[in-house]
Amino acid sequence: MKVQMLELSEQYELLKEDIHNVLEEVIASSHFILGENVKRLEENVAKYSHAFYGIGVASGSDALLLSLLACGVKEGDEVLVPSFTFFATAGAVARCGAKPVFVDIEPITFTLNPEKIEAAITKKTRAIIPVHLYGQTADMDPINEVAKKYHLAVIEDAAQAIGAEYKGKRVGTIGTVACYSFFPTKNLGAYGDGGMVVTNNGELAEKIQVLRVHGSKPKYHHHVLGFNSRLDELQAAILNIKLPHLDNWNKLRLEKATNYTKLINATGLSEVTPPQTIKNRKHVFHQYTIRTKKRDELQTYFKEQGIETMVYYPKPLHLQPVFLGLGYQEGDLPETEKACREALSLPMFPELKGEQQEEIIEKMERFFKK
Ligand SMILES: *Cc1c(COP(=O)(O)O)cnc(C)c1O
Repeated sequence: MKVQMLELSEQYELLKEDIHNVLEEVIASSHFILGENVKRLEENVAKYSHAFYGIGVASGSDALLLSLLACGVKEGDEVLVPSFTFFATAGAVARCGAKPVFVDIEPITFTLNPEKIEAAITKKTRAIIPVHLYGQTADMDPINEVAKKYHLAVIEDAAQAIGAEYKGKRVGTIGTVACYSFFPTKNLGAYGDGGMVVTNNGELAEKIQVLRVHGSKPKYHHHVLGFNSRLDELQAAILNIKLPHLDNWNKLRLEKATNYTKLINATGLSEVTPPQTIKNRKHVFHQYTIRTKKRDELQTYFKEQGIETMVYYPKPLHLQPVFLGLGYQEGDLPETEKACREALSLPMFPELKGEQQEEIIEKMERFFKK
């Protein structure tokens, strides 16, 4: 049996007719940029996030970049970020001319360790970007507390966590702004690139709206330097069809995750640690990520057996060649570096079959007991 990390075909079959219909509608309307579909999606996603404003942009990476700029982050500033995340989190900071300051993670959740934040703050610090990695939120209360004390913006990188909750509060308004990605593999995926910022802050929302159209306001008058960064109508139309299914898909992901953990626990393997969900946090399992010291060997074995797995992420950001100039060294962020050696994500998508999961865990057991 072959299993891929993500299989989108079943979801497509379910939505095929609706999607084809709206695509035809948009094309026939000849209105492709910032029209009704984007507006409706912005309202829908804002409402879904319990936020007042949603601003559609070209990608999750741009959502981060425009949020940072709207929050006033500029050259010479510092922004605290985890090093165990997708590159865009820190890339956006560097793109503003600011310096990413890397903070270690909590080993249990793989998210920013709030206890390590205060020591990293300097006079130049302007913002913190907690990443809700794999679909579980960072520990937001203590992060917000420190942010408040030092007057820092909190930009939630919620690219992997649309629908996740922290103490009953949905991702989107726990910080100052939240950034979503609609990259095709995310829990709410488009058929190309896309992203959105949500916030309760009207002033920031307006700044981001202006930044995404070259800083043009009123039209053809430019007071700030912006970008061309829009979510397009075709993607928005697709996402409007998908959004009503998101809660059910997230629920199915949680069921698959629970089943994986049950199967792993039943093997009694001491070499594998399943992911842990913290009380009071709703995990949306963008990824189901285990830890094992034999990660690379296990991944090779899975591959031979036709099972695709992924390493998110093999190299921490503080040791990436592009950030060499920041002066970090191996050993600076021990928990991050350990996670880079041990984390392995198993196939995860709402339509994953129980038999597929059983086979994956049987193979895992065979690998460790051979
Ligand atoms: C996917 C992702 C992004 C970037 O989103 P794009 O839409 O691909 O630009 C940013 N941060 C994290 C944590 C991500 O997983």
